[in-house]
This record gives sequence, C-alpha cells and structure tokens, in this order.
Amino acid sequence: MPVLAQLQHRPASPQLYSAGRMKELDSSIKLGKILGIPIGVHYSWIFVFVLFIFLLARQYSQSHLGWDAPQIWSTALVTTVLFFLSVVAHELSHSLLAVRKGIPVIGITLFVFGGVSQLSHEARRPMTEFLIAVVGPLTSILLAVVFGGLKFVLSPGNPQWEDVLLNPGRTSLEVISLHLAWINFSLGLFNLLPGFPLDGGRVLRAAVWGLSGSYWRGTQVAARAGQFLGGLMILGGLGLGWLYFGASFQGIWFALIGLFLFSAATASYRQERNRESMRVFRVADAFTTDWSSLPSETALGSPLVSHGLAGPEAVIGVLADNRIQGVVTRQNLALIPAGSSPFTTLGQVMVPLASLPSVGPSEGIYDALERMETEGLTRLAVVSDGRLLGFLNKEEVLRFMARRRRTSV
Ligand SMILES: [Zn+2]
Repeated sequence: MPVLAQLQHRPASPQLYSAGRMKELDSSIKLGKILGIPIGVHYSWIFVFVLFIFLLARQYSQSHLGWDAPQIWSTALVTTVLFFLSVVAHELSHSLLAVRKGIPVIGITLFVFGGVSQLSHEARRPMTEFLIAVVGPLTSILLAVVFGGLKFVLSPGNPQWEDVLLNPGRTSLEVISLHLAWINFSLGLFNLLPGFPLDGGRVLRAAVWGLSGSYWRGTQVAARAGQFLGGLMILGGLGLGWLYFGASFQGIWFALIGLFLFSAATASYRQERNRESMRVFRVADAFTTDWSSLPSETALGSPLVSHGLAGPEAVIGVLADNRIQGVVTRQNLALIPAGSSPFTTLGQVMVPLASLPSVGPSEGIYDALERMETEGLTRLAVVSDGRLLGFLNKEEVLRFMARRRRTSV
C-alpha cells in the first residue's frame, strides 16, 4: 500500500488568481501566449518541476512495476509536464472567463506553489466573481474525469486502482493517466476550500457579497476564513505531520502552503481595508485645478505658451467659444516638425477634449487610480457635462491616499 498512501498524501497546490500585478512574480521567464494570454514561469517553479520528477521517479522505482530506468524517468518526466499543463489549463479557464467578462488579464505565471492568473482588476459583480472562481476547480475536476476515463479504457475491469501501480507489467500510459486523474481531482477539491485567496474563498466572498450587497463584508469573511485555513494548515502540517509521518517532506510542504495562504489572505484583507477606507473619497477630492488656459488662436511661438507649460501640470487648456475645447502638452509640441510655421496656433495642434482619457468628478478615487495603473496612465482629465474641470494626477492621488491613511490609522 505505500504507493497509494503516497498518492493520497501528495501535497496539494493552490491555484490562484489575483487582481493587480503580483510584484514578487515579476521576475519570471516568458514562455509565450496561449489564446492571447501570456504564460510565464517564475524561477521558483524550476525547483518544484525538478523535485516533482525526482519524487515520481522514486515512487515508480519503489513500486513493483518492473520498469527499467529509462521507462521510470521518461514516465516521471511526462507525468510532471502533463501535471503542469493541467495547472495551466486550470489558470487558463480563469483567465479566459475573465476576458469574456470584460476584465483584462495580465498573464498566467507558474510558481513554486502552483499557478496564478493575474487579472487587471477584481470582478465588479458577485456573479462574475463566482463564475471566474468556480471555473478553475471545475476544469481540474473535468480533467480528472478525462484522465480517469482514459485509465478505465486502458484497463477496464480492474477497479483496484492501487493494483495498476503495484502490479508488474502495467504500462506507462496507465500509470500516467491514473496519476493525473488523482492530481487533478485533489487540485480541484483543494482549491474549493472556502478560504481566500483560494478559489473556494472567492466563491465564499461572492456568496456573502451577493447576499449582503457588501463587497467589503464578503472580503472580510473570506479573508478571515483564509487566515484560519492557512493557520490550520501550518499547525496540521507541522503538528499532525510530525505525529503520524515524522518530520516528513509532505508535512513541511503542507505547512509552507499554509503559510503562503495565511500571508496572502492577510495582505488581501489589508488591501481591501485600504480600499474601503478610501471609498468615501471621490475624484473631486483630489484633482488639481492648477493649470492655465489660452485662446485657441494663440501662436505656438508666444511667450504665453512657454509660460503656461512651465506650470506644475505642464498643460494648457485651449479656449474657443468660451469653452475648453482641448489641451496642449509638452509632448504635443515635441511632435510638431521643427520647420513648421511660428504662426501655427494652439487650436491647430491641440488634442480634443473628447479624445482625452477622462473621469467624472463623482467617481471613486480608488477606481480611478486602478484604471490609471491598468492603462499605464499618469493623468486623467476630469470632465463634467463636457467641461474640463481639471486633472487627476496619479502621483498626487497616491500622496493624497498616503496622507488620509496616516490620519485615519
Ligand atoms: Zn483556481
């Protein structure tokens, strides 16, 4: 029975998706794109990939399969590659559904504990959150059914799964399909545990959010559950692991995953608490009106233009018919050919107001910041009823939030 026991105690991995860029995964190797989603591996993943091959090879050589060394190693390699492709499939299902729901995806990264889909922002509705979260574990369970079915086709009439591994003469294909059925099944099940940031935690958040109408309430419940679950895994991995298996690799691994979940749940809790404390602030609280305007017929060579661009926002509003029609920035002027007429006017080179990325004064300041980060913008025009009110500057928003946080803590 040692093989089945090892199979059952194989450490599970969290498959996550996160909103925003996970800075610690930035140093990853880009592999390419699948269905338009960039796929990369973090350096820590290489360690776990090699470790997996060794653990599987050891398992195959300790059971009574009667395989020679090349068969042992090639089967271990193929199983490992298929396992990580299964993880990619799990993440891809999250990402593709997110794209369908209008949430841009930064990419998928494999790392030491599994995989992460990085979405540009959180879902805006509980149902969207629920669907994006639940599709991952369902994909894993579907893969388990496919591999289990393949194993059944290969050796029907053999309900004793452990026999497949223990009996001599079993083929690599049988062992691979059985292994992958198990791994995908435990991946799907583990990720359904109801603690943030696991998929099950997101399902829990969506449920509480949907029922209470409060995103913050949902996050609180799911993040606290995630901390509890992580803590339980740390204790379980170290304590029970020690009691029953000695200081086993599995126990330590389990505890490390628990530690990762605990810290991720804590970080999410803090981030959402910040967002919540910023919820009362609007764009109107932080935008700047520190800019000047000039009539559209002003020539570019006029000293008024260079004076206007020397202001803190380095932007000039272009006035015509008593209304700001567009803006001119230093970047606009830099694009004008050197030999052009000194009589070219602001009106001829301005960027029309309608084509500027803009935001309304009553929109939430955190949402505006999130948008600037996603779209790589440093500034948004604040526009109300077609009138330019001012500019929301990213640096200024960050300073504003830091000040408020200091005074509110
Ligand atoms: Zn997932």
